[in-house]
Amino acid sequence: MGRVLLVEDDVAIAAPLARALEREGHEVQLAQLGQEAIDSMRKGKQDLLILDLGLPDIDGLEVCRTIRASDPRLPILILTARGSEMDVVVGLEMGADDYVSKPFRAKELMARIRSLLRRGQVDHANTLRVQDVILDADARKAFVGDRELNLSRMEFDLLHALMKEHGNTIARERLMREVWHTHWYGSSKTLDMHVSWLRRKLGDSASDSRYISTVRGVGLRFETHPGN
Ligand code: CA
Repeated sequence: MGRVLLVEDDVAIAAPLARALEREGHEVQLAQLGQEAIDSMRKGKQDLLILDLGLPDIDGLEVCRTIRASDPRLPILILTARGSEMDVVVGLEMGADDYVSKPFRAKELMARIRSLLRRGQVDHANTLRVQDVILDADARKAFVGDRELNLSRMEFDLLHALMKEHGNTIARERLMREVWHTHWYGSSKTLDMHVSWLRRKLGDSASDSRYISTVRGVGLRFETHPGN
């Protein structure tokens, strides 16, 4: 899920596409002019730009170049009726990450959007978002929704280690090594205690875990979706 700026002057394309994006949980902002797109990129943070090339005011390639110059990491997908190889090359040179020609199949476009957003998340690896938990590694802050968590250093590092690889079970030995910088000498009491404190602060429970699951005999897993 992300904030998507959709720049497309053809309402017959923009409206259904915006609806499809919203169905997937994205927040969509629409722009019909290139200048509008540039202005709104300057104002607010977006996670993805979908950009038509044939715009009524500024050429889409110029819009792409301008936005890329001010935000080197924003994923940009060009959407256009110009499908020639030359346009593809120029578009990519202007800083676009991907290119879809009209007419496009909605399914394929959605798959590409998902992949671009995933890549964007990896690039912004200092902020992790899994379920409604947000962890800002630079600021060393963590939130459940709007509620900031008051975590000790070890609890924070443990949460970070688990969230970084959410969906995967991480061996207890590895967590001990990465969080406590220690080798494994039998007792896992320290880890267990911190997991239980962390769960309490997250509002999670061991018996009915929403965030952190224990995989017996193996390790721990931060769930990508609640109730796994
Ligand atoms: Ca157009």
